[in-house]
Amino acid sequence: MTKKAFITGITGQDGSYLAELLLSKGYEVHGLIRRSSTFNTSRIDHLYVDPHESDARLFLHYGDLSDGGRLVSLLANLRPDEVYNLAAQSHVRVSFDEPEHTGDTTGIGSVRMLEAVRLSGIHTRFYQASSSEMFGAAPPPQDEATPFHPRSPYGAAKVYSYWITRNYREAYGMFAVNGILFNHESPRRGETFVTRKITRAAAAIKAGIQDHLYLGNLDAVRDWGYAAEYVEGMWRMLQADEPEDFVLATGQSRTVRDFLDVAFQHVDLDWQDYVRFDERYLRPSEVDALIGDASKAREKLGWEPSVGPDELARLMVDADLEALKFPHGTWIDSVELASWGATAGAR
Ligand code: NDP
Ligand code: GDP
Repeated sequence: MTKKAFITGITGQDGSYLAELLLSKGYEVHGLIRRSSTFNTSRIDHLYVDPHESDARLFLHYGDLSDGGRLVSLLANLRPDEVYNLAAQSHVRVSFDEPEHTGDTTGIGSVRMLEAVRLSGIHTRFYQASSSEMFGAAPPPQDEATPFHPRSPYGAAKVYSYWITRNYREAYGMFAVNGILFNHESPRRGETFVTRKITRAAAAIKAGIQDHLYLGNLDAVRDWGYAAEYVEGMWRMLQADEPEDFVLATGQSRTVRDFLDVAFQHVDLDWQDYVRFDERYLRPSEVDALIGDASKAREKLGWEPSVGPDELARLMVDADLEALKFPHGTWIDSVELASWGATAGAR
């Protein structure tokens, strides 16, 4: 029997990698997309097959985490085996500007999804995209037992989602789990997250089309992994015998300054010649250091990342250099070009 998955946030970085992974495993994949006046599906366009074709296995449905009734009717009709709740207002700095919207989407959106599972009466396994931002001010290394101390409206909303997911597991016996993922990046990362901002700038400055890069706090420490590897961990959490929460991380720490060093060195530039400070990029309260301990995922799921932060910085710069050569290309990473080239060219 073909397994069926439902992904919210399928148009985002992680949703696109997860859709690829599940399609490669033979799943039928259904994704929730928001209606927009412009197309917002560029990260998954290379996966799309006209639904009128008999081999189509990716289907997109309009909806929004703010519309609970729609979520119930979709799940009741589709009856997926697995639900991955990845949709969120996912930017920490923006969450200070839009705290209420962030709470509604990143927090209450999760209980709307859980209620949709419960009310539609389906038996499904549920994954919640929890975040290392929940640890906030708690000193590293952080693992599944570290107490939460969120430092942003985003982090606070994710803490709500974490606990409501556990509550549905305890109250209703649902197979509902939290993946507590540390920062993970890729050439598909949103352009306003610091890693992608840096790698795009390194490429554009090298190409002579950008002069400066404005950044905020360079001292923040993060544990940056490669998103394509993290979606495998999400999937493994839903294949486990028992529903449990897991941290996914590399355990390696770098400052924003370290990431700048590697990215700019990769194009033979000195970042100090180009980077300028802009206080607009500071947060009212900062998360100083996130470094994860993913021992539990290694032991129980056999999950281990192979791409560390330095290799990640270099592969992202390479992809951004490539994107400058092909500005209207798809979201296919340069490392994946070989496997996806044939289908992308045919579309
Ligand atoms: P992105 O910002 O790339 O993607 C977010 C997705 O959510 C997009 O598909 C977006 O749709 C969708 N979305 C936003 N608001 C709504 C809404 N109201 N209704 C329906 N869909 C909505 O995030 P990532 O892929 O990087 O992250 C995936 C999840 O993992 C998020 O929940 C994020 O908070 C969490 N996370 C991410 C980490 C990371 O380092 N990347 C670390 C830990 C957790 P649209 O394209 O239309 O905007
Ligand atoms: P976050 O860990 O989810 O907040 O991911 P971000 O990539 O948005 O930020 C990572 C760290 O980089 C935070 O500590 C930010 O304060 C820091 N940072 C420094 N300058 C910038 C910037 O210009 N943009 C962003 N997004 N973050 C920056």
